[in-house]
Amino acid sequence: MTDVLAATTMSTATDASQAGFETATSSAPQPADAHVATPLSDARSQLAEAVGLLGLTDGLHQMLATPRRELSVAVPLRMDSGESRLYLGYRVQHNFSRGPAKGGLRYAPNVNLDEVRALAMWMTWKCALLDVPYGGAKGGLAIDPREHSMAELERVTRRYTSEILPIIGPERDIPAPDIGTDEQTMAWMMDTYSVNSGYTVPGIVTGKPISLGGSQGRASATSRGVTHIALAALRHVGLEPSRSTAAVQGFGKVGADAARFLVEASVTVTGVSDQYGAVFNAAGLDIEALGDHVRATGSVVGFAGAEPIEGADLLTLEVDLLVPAAVEGVLHDGNAGRVGAKVVVEGANGPTTPAADRIMRERGILVVPDILANAGGVIVSYFEWVQANQAYWWRADEVESRLEERMLSAWQCVLGYAVARGLSLRTAATALAVERVAEAHKLRGLYP
Ligand code: NAD
Repeated sequence: MTDVLAATTMSTATDASQAGFETATSSAPQPADAHVATPLSDARSQLAEAVGLLGLTDGLHQMLATPRRELSVAVPLRMDSGESRLYLGYRVQHNFSRGPAKGGLRYAPNVNLDEVRALAMWMTWKCALLDVPYGGAKGGLAIDPREHSMAELERVTRRYTSEILPIIGPERDIPAPDIGTDEQTMAWMMDTYSVNSGYTVPGIVTGKPISLGGSQGRASATSRGVTHIALAALRHVGLEPSRSTAAVQGFGKVGADAARFLVEASVTVTGVSDQYGAVFNAAGLDIEALGDHVRATGSVVGFAGAEPIEGADLLTLEVDLLVPAAVEGVLHDGNAGRVGAKVVVEGANGPTTPAADRIMRERGILVVPDILANAGGVIVSYFEWVQANQAYWWRADEVESRLEERMLSAWQCVLGYAVARGLSLRTAATALAVERVAEAHKLRGLYP
């Protein structure tokens, strides 16, 4: 146990930008303050550490730090009122060495190209780590979906899909839901792509409704995977789940079901937050009742079965397990010293900055990285794509047992690699993944 908690003493390049090639491809503005971490600088510094550990060449480092293809699109939307608006969208394909690109589509007002680049890179490592035959991609549209009617969301989704149509496809790049999108968004994307193809193409997206060829178990797959890993991590540090407490940040597609599955596994979930606030009950929250409250009101705020707390305080609650399941960069050098959990399991992508990672490692907190902890979604997305391509559907229990088997074998693999080398779980997971992508890249060679 102590091995994976120990700080690594490895010396590494600190950032891809310091390797002297960052400006060749990145036209995005850099933060004014060089110390301000961004998802992209975090992702690049994690890659640089893995590259240093593996002893890869500068040329290979440059390939792995740079997306293979990026598309920026301007997406016009005719509003219900008749006026028109324009939204900026992106699709970034980070890597194809191990197969078609795969990654979610995010609708959020602050989406930008650098964030999408970081998320696409993390998808490459996640797919390699879980050994699903994909590269990584991500899409984003800088829109607040809560400000739009269903008819407007349908029109903007169809237009965004049309704009990125030339670079997606079931053998090229397969989108899925992420923040602000859901199975209805995927249904519109599938229909738009299919109408343009002249026939139905269920393999173009994953996370579809089951009635359109979606997989049993996909909607809850990320949360189920988070729970399998959380229970294994608690036991690894000597904590019995039935005597453990947990806090969950974010009560969306990942956080709400993760809280529910943790309670089903007898963990006491004492705190939950969303973007509007947080609620706490030392005796344990009634997650089913909280779900009903959120469905009725749109937020956890005002839930009668708990006391209100500040959203920021959720992250520093004295609990055994913290599951950040909202957005990037929420655990940083300003609050990592006050995190009260013994185990952090990253439901979100990129919730921990490298500085926070170091602080928590020094404090003996076990952090299970996103590319392992939240990989359940992409595993069942892979199952959905396989089923759609074969037009043969699996039962829910088959999906769930295959998901559990893959999550726990990846956990054992990362843990073994970390313990054998005295690394953190994040460094071990990233190095394992980068090694697999680098190997595929070397075997394929450079064309021409
Ligand atoms: P979602 O839009 O369904 O839910 C997001 C939740 O986070 C909402 O409850 C929102 O109110 C809350 N939130 C947003 N900002 C917050 C803040 N500052 N503090 C507290 N809460 C905040 O999105 P989701 O699909 O659940 O995704 C959540 C995270 O999980 C993202 O990082 C996403 O990339 C990652 N992820 C999602 C999947 C998936 O299958 N949906 C798979 C892997 C990883």
